[in-house]
Amino acid sequence: MAFTLPNLPYAADALEKAIDKMTMEIHHGRHHKAYVDNLNAALADQPALQAKSIETLLKEIQTVPEGIRQKVINNGGGHANHLLFWEIMSPQGGGAPSGKLGEAINSTFGNFAGFQGKIKEAALGRFGSGWAWLVSSGGKLEIISTANQDSPLMQGKTPLLGLDVWEHAYYLRYQNKRADYVDGWWNVVNWDAVASRFAQ
Ligand code: MN
Repeated sequence: MAFTLPNLPYAADALEKAIDKMTMEIHHGRHHKAYVDNLNAALADQPALQAKSIETLLKEIQTVPEGIRQKVINNGGGHANHLLFWEIMSPQGGGAPSGKLGEAINSTFGNFAGFQGKIKEAALGRFGSGWAWLVSSGGKLEIISTANQDSPLMQGKTPLLGLDVWEHAYYLRYQNKRADYVDGWWNVVNWDAVASRFAQ
């Protein structure tokens, strides 16, 4: 079965306090769609790989034939990364995490502001295109950054929160000011969604 592009879980203009409507429309309807289309094209002759979940496909990336592996890394990673990105944002987002996730963030990074600073460092330190992540790895929280559409799943890490720092994610409103985009983005982070990923 082919991979499909789900609808956004909110209207394209729902995140205006951080991300403008046109950016959301192009990002979802063109960029994410292209990752899905190109992933399906790469796997056209691979029914066994098409049958895997996108997460399993990336975790088991070494089993993908070498001739199409980089295409699956780029486009399968792009698909998985954006699925997570839409899910962990919400018009009702913002604030700080509570409960077990909040406690784990505080005990790992000192406090929430310290955590935000580390994410920002990862986001601004990524030269060119990529992502900043909060991941769970061996039962511990970690902040990492990946290039292009590389998924933390390929390193055996479970992504909990991901920030897209490709220019296509912010350029229309923020132009070259990636730091302002990162600062605004906290206002739409859906901590309930991040906490439910953490609970699994
Ligand atoms: Mn993107």
